[in-house]
Amino acid sequence: MNEAKVSGAISQGREKPSLQADVSAPRKVFIKSFGCQMNVYDATRMGDILEKEGYDLTPTAEDADLVVLNTCHIRERASEKVYSELGKFRELKIEREAMGLPTRIAVAGCVAQAEGSEIVRRQSAVDIVVGPQSYHRFPELLREAERRPGVVDTEFPVIDKFEILRQPSPKRLNARGYSAFVTVQEGCDKFCTFCVVPYTRGAEVSRPVQSIIDEVRYLADAGVREVTLLGQNVNAYHGSHRGAAVSLAGLVALIAEVPGVARIRYTTSHPNDMSGELIAAHRDIPELMPYLHLPVQSGSDRILSLMNRKHSVDTYLAIVEQVRAARPDIALSSDFIVGFPGETEADFEATLDIVRRSRFAAAYSFMYSPRPGTPATDMDNHIPAEARRERLAALQALLEEHRQAFNRATIGRKVQVLLERKGRHPGQVVGRTPYLQGVHADGPEHLIGGIATMAIQSVGPNSLKGLILETESSNVQRASVEPANVEPANVFPDRQASNAE
Ligand code: SF4
Repeated sequence: MNEAKVSGAISQGREKPSLQADVSAPRKVFIKSFGCQMNVYDATRMGDILEKEGYDLTPTAEDADLVVLNTCHIRERASEKVYSELGKFRELKIEREAMGLPTRIAVAGCVAQAEGSEIVRRQSAVDIVVGPQSYHRFPELLREAERRPGVVDTEFPVIDKFEILRQPSPKRLNARGYSAFVTVQEGCDKFCTFCVVPYTRGAEVSRPVQSIIDEVRYLADAGVREVTLLGQNVNAYHGSHRGAAVSLAGLVALIAEVPGVARIRYTTSHPNDMSGELIAAHRDIPELMPYLHLPVQSGSDRILSLMNRKHSVDTYLAIVEQVRAARPDIALSSDFIVGFPGETEADFEATLDIVRRSRFAAAYSFMYSPRPGTPATDMDNHIPAEARRERLAALQALLEEHRQAFNRATIGRKVQVLLERKGRHPGQVVGRTPYLQGVHADGPEHLIGGIATMAIQSVGPNSLKGLILETESSNVQRASVEPANVEPANVFPDRQASNAE
């Protein structure tokens, strides 16, 4: 695997080169993706499909024959932001077509699912609207759009799209990096009252075990070392293999056997689906990273009930205790929503309390904002914006204190780091610890793609600085933090990343 793997193939931004007609050039697709890791994965798979249709990825919309807006519905006024983006792409389409360059615009993702044909009605420049469960049909939709622009596919098909998605080319695999996402489950049956996922992604569906193993094996053969199993409710995963039922824990065990896979993660979990078997997997499977993202959302039982979270503060804390007993060095992260309708000061204090008791290594926290079509939108007692802002600031200050304390605790310790890319400075490599902390260290490029043992020397606001002690042996070691022997080993052996493990 060469270092070019780490360059991002899916653009998150838009640059502005000048337009020049070059009708002989191969077709190009620009994919702009918003939102969660699942959307990042979907955008990657759309790129795989479109490559087979003769499209190369381009980081600029201006030279794209096909522009795909892969949308997210999680933010407030998500649809309005999509229409605003589409207005800009419409101008570009007009400009390109005036130069004889046919241009197609597609809207994918959760806003496509939620809005459907309304998108074509409001923005006639859109050629294709495709929901998250249907993007495997991109080739047919492109052909259909040639005959009849404005084609819409927002079905939840009976056929599993993963059975149809083709394996990416070696070139596309290189774009996935050493750490890759693999979707194993989609949709959600929990119906939290603030969330659009059950409406945009549909009911919980688990991908067949063999299809997942095949994808992981394909990735690992290309040099991928870390896989993150994705699902809106990933720990509700259920499949079967050789006649036996397979839970997420069983799936992790099977993936751990794939040669080359050194690290496994999964996200996002619901507390109610945190089974004893999955907790034990954190103790028993060395490849399963000691890191668990387990959203709690609020520390008040009253608010959890209004959110329809189906768990209580006590059940959440009991899971935290069990997980820490099984894997004492595990780090936890969580999600929070503050200012949910009806949240009192006492409810908010209870949220601060669960943070103090759980001491998260990282967290995502948001002010509540209504999502159209969700039950919470119609609830009474919406909290004024000013109070929501104040509560969020107080919560984030506490979370940040804990995050920094967690990072500081790694100073002087020995940590295993997956080296993923070159650093900003010459002779520097960058990677991540088992706890998803970014680390930079001096080291040769050929170590990229391998796992190095480092002593953590210092902590900055967003990353750690390490000293490489040794590069990995062929055995996967337990990815824990241990006291460091800070004598550096010879870290520049004549050894290539490709055979370093
Ligand atoms: S469990 Fe997660 S995905 Fe499902 S409804 Fe609740 S917040 Fe949304």
